[in-house]
Amino acid sequence: MKFFLTTFALVIVLSPPAKSFTLGGSSLLKGFQQSPVEVYLNPDLCPASIESDLKKAIDLWQSVPSSGLQLQYQGLTATAASQLKDFSFPEALVVACSDDFGNDHPNGCDSTCLDFVTAVGGFIGSGLSITKGLVIVNVNSGAQANMHNLGSAQRQLLLAHELGHTLGLGHSSEPSALMYYNLGGKQRLALHQDDMDGISYLYPRDEFGSDPMLACGRVDMSGGSPLGGTPPLWLFVLFLTLWIGLRLRFRADSIQKLGEPL
Ligand SMILES: [Zn+2]
Repeated sequence: MKFFLTTFALVIVLSPPAKSFTLGGSSLLKGFQQSPVEVYLNPDLCPASIESDLKKAIDLWQSVPSSGLQLQYQGLTATAASQLKDFSFPEALVVACSDDFGNDHPNGCDSTCLDFVTAVGGFIGSGLSITKGLVIVNVNSGAQANMHNLGSAQRQLLLAHELGHTLGLGHSSEPSALMYYNLGGKQRLALHQDDMDGISYLYPRDEFGSDPMLACGRVDMSGGSPLGGTPPLWLFVLFLTLWIGLRLRFRADSIQKLGEPL
């Protein structure tokens, strides 16, 4: 029994952490293939801060060192939420607000949905690649989930979460992840490691192709020290030499004192 408990504990400790992110489609989904992915905004009906909120959400996904995603804000567009549903718009990715969210939501949104869903993000693709994406924000007057009812941090969190869907991510089972289905407990715009793993899986950094090298370990050959090593090594050698020298001199003094006639 004791052996069983020990084995069980070891299995728990040694088990690798499970990946929690999911993809918003096939498990072979590849994300957008064009780079950069150009993002446009129609600010009509939206909260006044929507443009700065969106830029912060874009910057968040851009901040993952292991991902090669290039997400670029391109400015304003006249494409309205009502034109997004059939994905016939010319832009790659559009964010717009809707005061008729029930009709403009690609899958429809009933009265219960209007009070719980503040935005929707989605994409269409060709083969395994994403070709176009949308984010539609609920600003239906009277709806509890109206984005105008949210604070600044929640608006940014919401836009970042929906951008994650548009880029190809599904919901994560990790409660601390931005891509967890419920943003209710979150106060700060930030990515969890699971979000970073997900976006890096869809948009890996190609260090030997289009993306420059990150920060490879570098051997300093500039000869910055007289001994040709790094400063800590030659300092250590210097101190060791001094210490041995002092020890030998102390021993010589002691021998000389012991040898003196009484
Ligand atoms: Zn979601």
